[in-house]
Amino acid sequence: MNAPVKMRKPKETGVPDNKQYLHPLMLKNYGNWKYHDRPRPGVLHHVAHSGDEIWTVRAGTQRQMDVHTIRRLCDIADKFAEGHVRFTIRSNIEFMVSSAKQVDPLIAELEKGGFPVGGTGNSISMIAHTQGWLHCDIPGTDASGAVKALMDELIVEFRREEMPNRVHLSTSCCEINCGGQADIAIVIQHTKPPVINHDLVANICERPTVVARCPVAAIRPAMVNGKPSLEIDESKCMCCGACYPPCPPMQINDPENSKLAIWVGGKNANARGKPTFMKMVASGLPNNPPRWPEVSEVVKNILHVYKADARPWERMADWIERIGWPQFFEKTGLPFTKYLIDDWRGSRASLNASTHIRF
Ligand code: SF4
Ligand code: SF4
Repeated sequence: MNAPVKMRKPKETGVPDNKQYLHPLMLKNYGNWKYHDRPRPGVLHHVAHSGDEIWTVRAGTQRQMDVHTIRRLCDIADKFAEGHVRFTIRSNIEFMVSSAKQVDPLIAELEKGGFPVGGTGNSISMIAHTQGWLHCDIPGTDASGAVKALMDELIVEFRREEMPNRVHLSTSCCEINCGGQADIAIVIQHTKPPVINHDLVANICERPTVVARCPVAAIRPAMVNGKPSLEIDESKCMCCGACYPPCPPMQINDPENSKLAIWVGGKNANARGKPTFMKMVASGLPNNPPRWPEVSEVVKNILHVYKADARPWERMADWIERIGWPQFFEKTGLPFTKYLIDDWRGSRASLNASTHIRF
């Protein structure tokens, strides 16, 4: 008789169960909170129905961290908190403590270590940003550097809660924009089609993949100098950069022609209003490391006008909807052109929405 077949256990991938990492008080009171408040900027105070209380101290980090910084943060968690930390989606770090008297020493230690405490409520929270030159293979700028330069100037608004509503910023280093929607987003903007190195295409690129990748069907296979290569219909190309990741010889990054654009009014949450898509309000800003002063200037200007003009609890999109786009451009002094804010109406007819590869 055959031995019974032993079934292999499936290996699951994906997000691990977060409960194993929670602070014990959070686990005990999971889903059973009575209320929460904020005793000061950067500190959340949660009270459970059981009577338990927990204080969360939030600090900004630079997101791309070396091992020494991570060890430093862990040491602070062990000595001044209760050994538990978590990161928010905007790269803030949070420490949880079970008594109010642990809060001030923890804040003092964080500030001493260069980690500003804040980012809660109606503040400008840390900027969500993408990988930049350090990790990703297709960036046109260094998102982390632009964020560092800007947050150096916005740190006061991170530490206090004096904006009309919370302000979420993001920076993306290519037009794929994995930084997502934000109240204000800084996004790379290519302004010229890719330049093809025909000697390398046949060796490196899978041409059908690249052809299929183009959202406006602007790429065609072609023979160049007797070698299989590609050609671009430049009248169709919208300079999105999507062909560069599967085919690096289609180089689109350029020190002069890769610029930065500012988008406003995006929101992911359903809180108080539906999610919104952001719209471009400034373009052609120089990609100017290491401090990107032109970008910081535009972002600070929009924030300044928003802070002065928005009503309490208006998010950036709510404020713009109330005053209207003409007023937005008038108040911010940003130059308006026909290429800004409007959705691209040609997209329905020309976007490559089918699964067929077009030759
Ligand atoms: S925005 Fe683009 S280049 Fe930057 S990390 Fe995301 S996919 Fe990579
Ligand atoms: S993928 Fe984008 S950048 Fe490349 S050819 Fe098509 S439209 Fe132009």
